[in-house]
Amino acid sequence: MTSVDSVDMNKQNEFARLISMMSDRPKTFCVITYGCQMNAHDGEKIAGILSSMDITEAVREDADLVIVNTCCVRENAERKALGNVKYLAHRHKDNPRFLLGVCGCMVQENKDAGEAKRMFPEADFLIGTHNLHALPEVLYNAIITGGATVSVSADDRAPIAEGVPAIRENRHKAFVNIMYGCDNFCSYCIVPYVRGRERSREPGAILREIEGLLETGCKEITLLGQNVNSYGKNLSQEISFAKLLHKIDALSVPRVRFMTSHPKDLSDELIEAMSSLQSLCKHIHLPVQSGSDRVLSLMNRRYTREDYLNKLRRLRAAASNICVTTDLIVGFPTETEQDFEDTLSLVEEADFAAAYTFIYSPRKGTKAAAMDGQIPAEVSSRRIERLIAVQEAHTRAILGAQIGSVQTVLVDEVSRRSASHVSGKTEAGISVSFAGSAELIGRFVNVQITSAGHNTLRGSIAF
Ligand code: SF4
Repeated sequence: MTSVDSVDMNKQNEFARLISMMSDRPKTFCVITYGCQMNAHDGEKIAGILSSMDITEAVREDADLVIVNTCCVRENAERKALGNVKYLAHRHKDNPRFLLGVCGCMVQENKDAGEAKRMFPEADFLIGTHNLHALPEVLYNAIITGGATVSVSADDRAPIAEGVPAIRENRHKAFVNIMYGCDNFCSYCIVPYVRGRERSREPGAILREIEGLLETGCKEITLLGQNVNSYGKNLSQEISFAKLLHKIDALSVPRVRFMTSHPKDLSDELIEAMSSLQSLCKHIHLPVQSGSDRVLSLMNRRYTREDYLNKLRRLRAAASNICVTTDLIVGFPTETEQDFEDTLSLVEEADFAAAYTFIYSPRKGTKAAAMDGQIPAEVSSRRIERLIAVQEAHTRAILGAQIGSVQTVLVDEVSRRSASHVSGKTEAGISVSFAGSAELIGRFVNVQITSAGHNTLRGSIAF
């Protein structure tokens, strides 16, 4: 299987042109996105496509067209998306031009058009994850027919669409997809069912996109994929993720990040790249999920606790100042007190700078959802509280050790708490706030760290 540029974007561009000439087209849009960075970037593509039709962005209450970009990885995100769709449905009565669209993983989960319609009867159109590029055609049909239109492809090796426009949230930071889908089938995870099998973009297309971003002043690129470490395996001319990083480094991007990495595919070649490439930020997000070999095996993670810790040691030996963050799940089916203690001891040993901690939530259609031994909610809640307390002690120690150092911060925004402060991220991905004004946004600033909060740093400009 090779990734191909065979999606007919000319056809979609023609639909976009037709819509832009319609007097009864929606004039304003709002995209509501749930979930991961992949979804956030899909939201940027939706904004890019709609802007190309001369439809302008607005707040939710003022928009003629609202698209809810859904996530089904966790129950909470699903509930919120369903609630928002129900809440928005009444707008049809007040605004005859109003259109409500739903896209993303919750639509793709159903695969079949009838099921998708039953899940979102209020929607004017529905688009699955493989068909986002077809938004112009779907929207055109929704405007013309006035009936619900559905575009969902059951092909889990759907070709990649190149040349989809995107309006990025920031000018100085950008997400760039390098691959789509996942072949790992971790037993708790819905992603392979809703994002399809692994398909990598051709390196040339990725490099061209990055060059274009650099020309517009972009300073930081985050390469996106469900499992970036296995990038390139399905291309006709196989190329490793580390080799792609070398090619990107040669473009002199100031900062490159990537996510997410699967520990089993973290190669020595990538470890070497982490230590040698100037552009690569010294930060890796490496989800471990559990410290128990028994649970890791049930999760189908295909590494042991010792494999993981060994890779961490090798990473830290190669790049001593690397910052490691992780994901952890508690309450996986059959998790015993001893399994949970193994997770706590791994967290102590691994010394993560931060961890996203989750209580296991069964996802329909996954292997784990059908397993015996689901853990009662109160047990999982108790465990997660203990886990958070252990992790917080490590985060505090790592942040505290930065006090007095000078960190290079790429400034993102005016601080939400104070108009006289700005905030941005260090190379390790830690948030720092300091006194400064909006003109610093998008610039690198050396900041002397003066204090550490719960999970952020504070400082002042170093002269
Ligand atoms: S690697 Fe596992 S957890 Fe990550 S997306 Fe693939 S199946 Fe899901």
